[in-house]
Amino acid sequence: MKRRILLQSLAMAVVFPLIPACFRAQVIGEASSPITPLNKPHEAWRGLVSPKAYKILFEEETERPESSNLVYEDREGTFICAACYLPLFESSAKYESNTGWPSFTQPIAGHIATKLDFKMIKPRTEYHCVRCGGHQGHVFNDGPPPRGERWCNNGTALKFVPKDEQLPTLRS
Ligand SMILES: [Zn+2]
Repeated sequence: MKRRILLQSLAMAVVFPLIPACFRAQVIGEASSPITPLNKPHEAWRGLVSPKAYKILFEEETERPESSNLVYEDREGTFICAACYLPLFESSAKYESNTGWPSFTQPIAGHIATKLDFKMIKPRTEYHCVRCGGHQGHVFNDGPPPRGERWCNNGTALKFVPKDEQLPTLRS
């Protein structure tokens, strides 16, 4: 009996310190040059992005599937955050997931951070732009090899810049 209590306490000690860590944002990979978070209030982006993009980026809504032209964007280029213009995905990481949302196998290292989202009964992993904090989508573990990740993005939260065009200056 005593042993069982001891084992339970040990289990608690192991589990509990991990719980707060789940709520913290986790940056995926290391950026090639350091990125300073803007700490700009969400409200301040109103008017700088479309009302639909604002709802997704700063009120964590999800667009209807098939509602973004970027689902079918198959040119070479870069997908940038629709708010602060930080590059988030390269076209080489885009693939057809048949979900109706633009899907990627991996983000640009250090430009995306993940957080657990408890809006549905089962927790999901939400991710956002590390610079402006704008919500982009959710990541699932049913993607193609080798990483097995599916970064399911709202097309409205992104802008596409074709390879032959210059990336716009980051917005602050
Ligand atoms: Zn951003």
